[in-house]
Amino acid sequence: MADDRRLDGNAIGGMMLELFGVEMTTATEVCRTCGTADVVARLEVYMDAPGTVVRCAHCKAVLMRIVRGPDRTWLDLSGFRSIELRSPD
Ligand SMILES: [Zn+2]
Repeated sequence: MADDRRLDGNAIGGMMLELFGVEMTTATEVCRTCGTADVVARLEVYMDAPGTVVRCAHCKAVLMRIVRGPDRTWLDLSGFRSIELRSPD
C-alpha cells in the first residue's frame, strides 16, 4: 500500500458535512483499538473504490468505512470508541 494514496481527514470533511450536517474535521475521536484521542482531520483516509476507508494515524486500525451508492450511503463506524462534536459557534 503506497503512501501516495493516503489523504488526511480533511478529505472526508465535505462528505461528513453533507451526511451529518456538522463539521466533523474538528471533532475529536477516540480509537477503539488503541484508545488514542485525535482530531478527525489528522486521520488517514484512503478513497479507493468502491469505498472510503479511514484509519487511525497511530495504530492503523480501520475506524470507519463509507460506501456510497446512487440512492444510499453505508457507514461502518465500529472502529471508533467515541466521537466528540463541537457545538456550532
Ligand atoms: Zn488506534
